Amino acid sequence: MREFRIAVLPGDGIGPEVMNEALKVLRILKDKDYTFQFHADMFLWNSEYYLQHGRMMPENGLDILKNYDAILFGAIGDPRVPDDISVWELIMPIRKRFCQYVNLRPVKKLKGIPEQFIHQERPINFVIVRENAEGEYSNSGGRIYQGTDQEIAVQNTIITRKGTERIARYAFQYAKKHGYQKVINATKSNAVVHSMKLWDEVIEHVASEYPDIQLEKYYIDALAAYFVQRPDTLQVIVASNLFGDILSDLGSALVGGLGISPSANINPEGVFPSMFEPVHGSAPDIAGKGKANPIAQIWSAALMLQSLGREDLASIILKAIEKVTEHGEKLTEDLGGNSTTAEMGEEIVRQIVKIM
Ligand code: ATP
Ligand code: MG
Repeated sequence: MREFRIAVLPGDGIGPEVMNEALKVLRILKDKDYTFQFHADMFLWNSEYYLQHGRMMPENGLDILKNYDAILFGAIGDPRVPDDISVWELIMPIRKRFCQYVNLRPVKKLKGIPEQFIHQERPINFVIVRENAEGEYSNSGGRIYQGTDQEIAVQNTIITRKGTERIARYAFQYAKKHGYQKVINATKSNAVVHSMKLWDEVIEHVASEYPDIQLEKYYIDALAAYFVQRPDTLQVIVASNLFGDILSDLGSALVGGLGISPSANINPEGVFPSMFEPVHGSAPDIAGKGKANPIAQIWSAALMLQSLGREDLASIILKAIEKVTEHGEKLTEDLGGNSTTAEMGEEIVRQIVKIM
């Protein structure tokens, strides 16, 4: 039997609070299903670590993480440390070194999420496949004539044939594997005529290898409206780094907000560990108060199990989460309830026990 090795990085703020609940979920699965074995090591590489050591992780941090099957991440960010340090010295190096070029964001409406948060009667169940390694978020560019009224800033977008091909292929494979019939290309090649034209060309080329799956092309502005007006008809969306980032938050708002939205940074080849983290940040405003919704972190753990080949356990977690939102008795404040983080987490554990 394979024992999964999981590196746990709880991070800052509400990170450790919601991670605690995710670990309870993983432990109960292990107790109930002897075929599921894991070993978790905890790494306290966070802003506190930075304040003590002047860096976000030890020098050989990435070499340590490399030996794990997966990384479960909480959230990072602390008012005492500039945001770009925690991002550029921890999250980005992990994504880069482990070639996590897919950012996967499932957007699914859970039963029972109170009406005031969702204005759609019909089910919503789609995924955003965001390019996570290049595109608009590059370090290439600069500023000249600084501080004068002639000042110019240039920010380069890097779209490569290889980078686009691999993200497109992931999107089509994902659609095929999960029974979706269409992939939407989120683009803006009518105005961004160099980079997005190459993006479109490559996506259309990859699409031709998947005759059973339909390709639709939407300009990002129209697609944003489409998200609001008929999100029930969305399926798989393939998007560049910037567009995918924006659509992800929009998608998360459609189905109940940051407290429930999971994400995965995936190395599809499985050569390096993938990393699973909630979409939300460390939420300093509610940290330490037991108010954080643990669903996003628990759902991220479910994505981790899915990627480790345990779809069965992932779907048990999802069912249990949905039972809790449907019953509506143990909800955190962000979903209109008054339960604590631990109360909600333990209710999810209780539902898992009932299902298994
Ligand atoms: P970051 O830069 O790390 O993304 P941020 O300030 O942009 O941080 P969050 O930390 O995600 O964003 O917080 C945004 C808002 O959402 C805050 O008001 C926070 O309290 C709320 N929030 C975030 N996560 C949760 C959660 N799990 N449960 C309840 N509320 C949350
Ligand atoms: Mg944010």
